Amino acid sequence: PLLLLLSYLTAFTSFGQKNQKVPTEKRIEDLLAKMTLEEKVGQLNFVVGDLFNTGPTVRTSESDRFNEAIRKGSITGIFNIHGADYIGKLQKIAVKESRLGIPLLIGADIIHGFKTVFPIPLGESASWDLAAIEMGSRVAAIESTAGGINLTFAPMVDIARDSRWGRTAEGAGEDPYLGSLIAAARVKGFQGKDLSDPRTMAACVKHFVAYGAAEAGRDYNTTDMSEYLLRDVYLPPFKAALDAGSATLMSAFNELNGIPATGNMFTMQQILRKEWGFQGAVISDWQNITEMVNHGYSKDHAQAAEQALKAGTDVDMMGEAYLKFIPELVRSGKFDEKILNESVRRVLWLKFKLGLFDNPYLYSSTKREKNEIRSKENLAAAFDMARKSIVLLKNQGNVLPLTANVKKIAVIGPLANNKADMNGTWSFFGEEQHPVTFLEGIRKYAKGAEVTYAQGCELYSNSTSLFQEAVAAARNADVVIMAIGESAVMNGEGASRADIGLPGVQLDLVKEIHKTGKPIVALVSSGRALELSWLDQNIPAILATWSLGSEAGNAAASVLYGEYNPAGKLPLSFPRHVGQLPLYYNYKNTGRMYEGDHSEPGSERVYKSRYRDVPNTPLYPFGYGLSYTNFSYGKLRLNKSSISGNEPLVVSVDVTNAGNVAGEEVVQLYIQDLVGSTARPVKQLKKFQKLAFAPGETKTITFTLTKEDLSFWRQDMTFGAEPGDFKIMVGGNSRDVQTLPFTLTAL
Ligand code: BGC
Repeated sequence: PLLLLLSYLTAFTSFGQKNQKVPTEKRIEDLLAKMTLEEKVGQLNFVVGDLFNTGPTVRTSESDRFNEAIRKGSITGIFNIHGADYIGKLQKIAVKESRLGIPLLIGADIIHGFKTVFPIPLGESASWDLAAIEMGSRVAAIESTAGGINLTFAPMVDIARDSRWGRTAEGAGEDPYLGSLIAAARVKGFQGKDLSDPRTMAACVKHFVAYGAAEAGRDYNTTDMSEYLLRDVYLPPFKAALDAGSATLMSAFNELNGIPATGNMFTMQQILRKEWGFQGAVISDWQNITEMVNHGYSKDHAQAAEQALKAGTDVDMMGEAYLKFIPELVRSGKFDEKILNESVRRVLWLKFKLGLFDNPYLYSSTKREKNEIRSKENLAAAFDMARKSIVLLKNQGNVLPLTANVKKIAVIGPLANNKADMNGTWSFFGEEQHPVTFLEGIRKYAKGAEVTYAQGCELYSNSTSLFQEAVAAARNADVVIMAIGESAVMNGEGASRADIGLPGVQLDLVKEIHKTGKPIVALVSSGRALELSWLDQNIPAILATWSLGSEAGNAAASVLYGEYNPAGKLPLSFPRHVGQLPLYYNYKNTGRMYEGDHSEPGSERVYKSRYRDVPNTPLYPFGYGLSYTNFSYGKLRLNKSSISGNEPLVVSVDVTNAGNVAGEEVVQLYIQDLVGSTARPVKQLKKFQKLAFAPGETKTITFTLTKEDLSFWRQDMTFGAEPGDFKIMVGGNSRDVQTLPFTLTAL
């Protein structure tokens, strides 16, 4: 028994850490008291693993790379690795062989699934289906925790108003209200009710803040904006994610109003910590602490470390600046150890919350890994989400859905028989061989019909050598389905584009096929809003198919054949021309607003904020998406034409499915505040409901608005509503709405 006791004590060096009865705060303080300065900064040092060399069949020589650092306590965790067995071994070194036995964080970019890949976040957002989105994150958490991961660098909640920015793919589009609801749904999906449940993981909402406002849509570029815009548009999704419990937050790469986000005292201290009271750990983005030198803000890495830690960036991802400089700065009296301790506490808190101190092997179960990854249920959820993400942009002459009369189908395009690109951007763990291609899906659903395939062209080379074969295939078909758009690497991080049309010679290919006179259905994949003007003018049917993930082909075919009636709505405006960007529905009026759109070249001169050559309006507005049925809206009704601040305003409308197939509609409510102490946008989404309708069915939809919904950041930088006149607008997209006035008489 003595030996047993001894081995127990050595195994659990810090006895207090294992005692679940002691309050977490005390366990943290006990541990902190034992830590050297080096061990403290070690807890703030996060390093990347060998993503492609690990996994269930881990190469031990690669993993050995970290063993010494783990023993010394100089890393808090490793990210972008996976494999229950491998991670179990690493945890064992941390717990058994390091002086204090502190377990490791295992992070990863689990952005839209793990091995079961869901549509890219922008695609999922087009579903406007919060429960399905939450489920997507839940499945991602179940699979990736089985693979040993306990922290995901998601959700990304950056507002994107300029689709040149490649990371538009990773967010929820342009709207702060929809973006906030989706942010919360994702956090709930990842984290569940209890972080120490081995099927849930910590979320890390990113990138704080305004990263999506990069000038000219160029990734990492400077951002400069008023505090009103920041608070009204860019901050709300972060607040929503934190209110939903996001355990951590990531600071952004960009400089905001002259100060890099990661060292920005105003956003990180004033807003995040003081106003919002966020207690969790802030993780830097990849080397963005040391990059403050490149920004021209810090003179060297030592100063960058000092500035970032003071601002409250707790964890240094890949910069090693805290590791190298903070101990010496503390010893020489230049840096207050109390600030360092605060950051260490936050990291230890996270590890306690995840249950790692009580069971370091919680997240690495080879059994779960075997049973729960790519399970039937998970793939079914991915299929469901993929169908819900698809947006029907055009369906002239009801080319869709395809019927049994279509006997010959030509499937053409560089994305038609392409597996890898279906996984989309940020899909480190999704395997290339898994996704169902469009061609495979169509073959499965086409039953009796003859399906031929021609690639037509490469995704972005200039060669037209494959055109001829494709044209021949089209000539011989009743219907041509073209799978075109962006590859996985044409959007995502660092993948900004100046021209957001179809890459390479794809549009030329479509034009050649069009000459055959055959009806074309375009499946357009992208991680952003694309410029689709020519297609819109010439092609009868267009579907936005983003990157749909593992079940891409099945989902698309299910929609093409009308097994599922598409119900997605755009989470961002699609422009007519790239020169319109940034483009968003919730813009503000200028002083020069004249009726009519005199934008045809050569029309008389009208002093209006406009282009000579392109209208101001989008090609497809925010909230837009068609169905195989038609919804008719009855007269909009308000319970009162004026309310005072404490009364609710009840808005109702009857919506009827006027067609003969079942379908879903997203009924959207927008407001306009006609006069504000800071000028208000022409429209702001405030409510929506997604409802299913049987053929012929009518439903009364009721929305209740309160003064909260009318609030904004007023001129004096307080948040609240202002009495005055408003408009209520309701419709199936942001453009086609019915309008009624109402007045807020008092607060
Ligand atoms: C990205 C982050 C990501 C991190 C780790 C960075 O380059 O900006 O979004 O979480 O890498 O992979």
